[in-house]
Amino acid sequence: MPEPRTVHTVCSHDCPDSCAVLVTVDELGKATRVQGDPAHPVTRGFLCGKVAKYLDRVYSPSRLLYPMRRREGAPKGRMPYGREADVFERIGWDQALDLIAERLRLISEEYGPESILPYSYAGTIGLLGYGSMDRRFFHRLGASRLDRTICSTTGGDALVSVYGKKLGTDTEHFRHARYIIAWGANIHGNNVHLWPFVEEARRHGAKLVVIDPYRTRTARTADWHIPIQPGTDAALALGLMRILIEEGLYDREYVAEHTHGFEALRDHVQPYTPEHVAGLTGIAAADIERLAREYAASVPAVIRMNYGIQRSQNGGTAARAVCMLPALIGAWKHLGGGLQLSTSGAFAFNNAALERPDLMLASPLQRPARIVNMSRLGHALTELGASQTEGQADGPPVKALLVYNSNPAAIAPNQNAVVRGLMRSDLFTVVHEQFFTDTTDYADIVLPATTFLEHKDIQGAYGHYYLQMSEQAIAPLGEARSNVWLFGQLGQRMGFTESCFRDTVDDLIDQALAPQPRANGAPAADPTRDGITREKLQAEKSIRLQFAAERTGGFFLPFANGGFATPSGKAEFYSSALAAQGLEPLPAFHPPDESRQGADSHAFPLEFLPRKADNYMNSTFANLPGHQKMESPGLVAMHASDASARQIRDADWVEVYNARGKILLRAHIDGSVTPGVVAASLNWNKLSRGGSNVNALTSERLTDLGRGPTFYSTLVEVRKLTPDEAQNLFPPID
Ligand code: SF4
Repeated sequence: MPEPRTVHTVCSHDCPDSCAVLVTVDELGKATRVQGDPAHPVTRGFLCGKVAKYLDRVYSPSRLLYPMRRREGAPKGRMPYGREADVFERIGWDQALDLIAERLRLISEEYGPESILPYSYAGTIGLLGYGSMDRRFFHRLGASRLDRTICSTTGGDALVSVYGKKLGTDTEHFRHARYIIAWGANIHGNNVHLWPFVEEARRHGAKLVVIDPYRTRTARTADWHIPIQPGTDAALALGLMRILIEEGLYDREYVAEHTHGFEALRDHVQPYTPEHVAGLTGIAAADIERLAREYAASVPAVIRMNYGIQRSQNGGTAARAVCMLPALIGAWKHLGGGLQLSTSGAFAFNNAALERPDLMLASPLQRPARIVNMSRLGHALTELGASQTEGQADGPPVKALLVYNSNPAAIAPNQNAVVRGLMRSDLFTVVHEQFFTDTTDYADIVLPATTFLEHKDIQGAYGHYYLQMSEQAIAPLGEARSNVWLFGQLGQRMGFTESCFRDTVDDLIDQALAPQPRANGAPAADPTRDGITREKLQAEKSIRLQFAAERTGGFFLPFANGGFATPSGKAEFYSSALAAQGLEPLPAFHPPDESRQGADSHAFPLEFLPRKADNYMNSTFANLPGHQKMESPGLVAMHASDASARQIRDADWVEVYNARGKILLRAHIDGSVTPGVVAASLNWNKLSRGGSNVNALTSERLTDLGRGPTFYSTLVEVRKLTPDEAQNLFPPID
């Protein structure tokens, strides 16, 4: 009988921290404990509340353990939680794979392979599970390519437009900062391993400032919370830049040596006076001036910007403008200064080897397939292909949807359109999942998926600079299988003869770590991954990327002395590349159309913040009783003045609505929002009193940069329900 052992894994949930997780496995092969690795410099021995009780999730009695198919005649549609299995019957993996392969073959022949759409995101951010064999499969099939925009492309594109790379201040260096701005960043809620470094800095005198329209956990513990009107971050950043320039608080030397377009920026920010910006943002002019002066005077100063601010219609511009601030004051020069949005660009995995885009040429299309934006799934399922006329075809309608690493019925915007599409009887839907979810309610076939304890992977991070090995700790529960296994098997069932469909997990890891080829085909060594092989990672589990400065005893300061990958080779205030795309080369503030200052403000007077729940990971964990207890879902935060204007009192049932939909929540008047703003967190539809979550209200309008969703450009109205309405019009679905 094997001995109890400890296995090194990595939390693969969509979180910047990518924690090193030690799993204790008993002699029967059962995991008995998870804990943060005390030796990991960022994990530091603790896990967040979501994952600390991870074994409740892995061994939940609700885990999906076997392949299933919808029973003959059972209609698609929302099922009460816990009763989903009633409409499915268990089948074997062989039968499931044959059924899927056969349907895909028929659909491809009749409508073309682009009528098949994969839908996935970051249900796992393990490298192989996120994107490897699945991409090979869909490329070889000729399926539509999914534009994975739902989370970070807008902010990522903004960061790259200024610096050329997705790099940022090292998490471990925050301890040296004297001034920390958390801008749209709820560090306590979803980046908790940064917090000890923030606290260490504060113990040495640093000030924590939070800029956020919602009084988050982080805001409540800050030295200064600045509530800002949703969607006006660009205006604030431009106003700060004007003060920094006008008062000579910028770093002349850094600007001269390392930036591009300063003169144009100086002229461009002139209209953004403190008084004008105060009117736009709701922040007092004196506070804007104070913020600018403190930011410039406190060396080093660092900004933790998270993806909140980019989820509005002008979110790309807002993120660009914020990204420019550390270049203006030269904050990158100092240990503990700069900005962090993402560190993912340092890992430079060989994605071409993993995903094999060359296989598209071997597909029936013999060309790259069309691209479908995941932030417009409702449109894709209900409108794509409907307007086909000679010469202006947008491609075939979507006839098959393969969902993995995602729960689109809950997380995609414009939910009523998404659900209408998922209800189509002619849409063949397969969902690979760990639990029955809002999306499996519309599936023809449901397949059981492994958790990160049940398969092997490697993982980078977007909140630190350590590459890690995630070993398989336990055998898959029931007949759960990984993404790599599923798509390798499907490839073989489809008759794809390329040997890459038989690659093992270790083969894939080797390929991911291989040097990226140069344009001329010669392999190029990636200095940050120099010498990091699978064998070395297997032995050491977690390896810091190899930065040249650290080899000689220094610190990795990403843009202290240049290092930009922009067209000008400098940090770009002015972007010719954006101008060439017809976009504004300098950031300017334009209110989102759907905002109180925008064009569509007449019917619905309140700004709506569809927040992520602090104790869930998007829609993940929302079905677990222990997490539900921590979260108190089903509330809409309102300001007392907005509530009293509508005769609403705390805990009253209310309907939050706009032209796209309505949701039912209890009013919560707790001082967490300013007048004119209401906020509610994401939950599952089937666990929500009215059967819909916050995305019944959000739109498919896209951001100005990066083609992302505009969750935070949403206007609503709120009305109080009568007791009869609360009880009878919207009964709980169970
Ligand atoms: S969700 Fe984030 S903080 Fe929590 S364990 Fe995973 S990586 Fe760590």
